[in-house]
Amino acid sequence: MSQTLPATIPASLFEACADSIADTARELSALGWTPATSSNFSMRIDAEHAAITVSGRHKGRLGRDDIMLIDLDGHAVGTEARPSAETALHTQIYRRWPEMRAVLHTHSRTQSVASRLFAGDGVIRLQGWELQKAITGYHTHESTLEIPVFPNTQHMPELVAQIDAWLDAGKPLHAYLIDGHGIYTWGRDMAETQRHLEALEFLLGCELDLKKLRAS
Ligand SMILES: [Zn+2]
Repeated sequence: MSQTLPATIPASLFEACADSIADTARELSALGWTPATSSNFSMRIDAEHAAITVSGRHKGRLGRDDIMLIDLDGHAVGTEARPSAETALHTQIYRRWPEMRAVLHTHSRTQSVASRLFAGDGVIRLQGWELQKAITGYHTHESTLEIPVFPNTQHMPELVAQIDAWLDAGKPLHAYLIDGHGIYTWGRDMAETQRHLEALEFLLGCELDLKKLRAS
């Protein structure tokens, strides 16, 4: 392993997180949600560190060497590897919510099309769907689940600022889309995060189908 760990992080902990990321990435890749080396995944290691996918690797074939350690400022720790270009979006979540332990970012076709279709509104309002209950904190289909759509940019501080502005306005946030790009979601462990991602993929697909059917 080309990764050197600080004395405070047991190898078994890092390896368990790396394996969890690789296993999840393989499943999401098989679904076609991570085309052409896109997407990135991470897990919190402790209060100051996370494990994240190395930039540019195919997400269906990740091994432990494709996962690296970063601090919560997004700097590589104990490795020469380069973290994902969007690392700042992962560390933002870990810094804002100490209880969050996993972040998944994918680029499925459904997520990409929905992000473009709703970019003008800046938000997708999900209402009346039973599967909204798959999102932690939502207990009824009668609730409204808002998924903001932020403009895409290659300049990460701009995206971080837009997300901070949404949160600083006191609005709940469990996931967001980036226009023409993909989705970010997170949770208190990998299983919860994967459940959020699967539910959102399904709900976005339903919204797109409804739009098509109503237009025809
Ligand atoms: Zn991306």
